[in-house]
Amino acid sequence: MKKFGRKKFLALGIVLAFSICGAVGHLRPKMSPISTFAPVRFPERQLILDAGHGGEDGGAVSVTGVPESNINLAVILRLDQFLGFYGTAPILLRDSDISIYDPGCETLRQKKVSDLHNRVAIIEGTENAFVISVHQNTFSNSAYHGAQVFFRTGAESKALAELTQIVLRQGVDPENGRTPTQIPDSVYLMKHITCPAILVECGFLSNPVEEKKLRSESYQAQLALCLASAWLQSEEIQSGNGVGPVI
Ligand SMILES: [Zn+2]
Repeated sequence: MKKFGRKKFLALGIVLAFSICGAVGHLRPKMSPISTFAPVRFPERQLILDAGHGGEDGGAVSVTGVPESNINLAVILRLDQFLGFYGTAPILLRDSDISIYDPGCETLRQKKVSDLHNRVAIIEGTENAFVISVHQNTFSNSAYHGAQVFFRTGAESKALAELTQIVLRQGVDPENGRTPTQIPDSVYLMKHITCPAILVECGFLSNPVEEKKLRSESYQAQLALCLASAWLQSEEIQSGNGVGPVI
């Protein structure tokens, strides 16, 4: 392009840019758009995502021999991705197949105890934390199936658990009649933290039909989408803009 031509091109660009700005400026009072992708929409709560187990501690094992830790991680990574699209930046207690124990631990028991202590320490060291923990269920009777949401004591935890259970029912399993239940004291992590938290048992690894779904990337993505949807809606409700569960 010649020098004169380049100048003309630049001038035309500036005129166009001003015209677009003018048009947008003109429309703004009528449209007042809200950006869905605004960075960190409700910064008053810090979401922490806990993929249960990891590393040497695989947790429950499925009927085809897959440890729940792998499925938990896959769902959490997807959930992190989906939430990222909406400007929510969670803290992940683990983002790979590891156990977060201190150096020097030798036995599996020592590693598991240290891992849980460290998870508690990270959560307790985070201001305004809210935890979503993901696990998979098993039972001696292979007929049992369906996701179930558990909650720590407190209205915030219970509200998110109820919303999440509804969204999971709507999103992946309309026949699921399970209701949210308070987390028993036997769950170490949940007993030793003080912030609101829910624990999602995504399904039963002991049920062959559900296990096959839980191993599939598409079902893991659907589960993650349900969890993201419930969380984002809870933020909307918290901020006074919510309308109730919609996915
Ligand atoms: Zn588990």
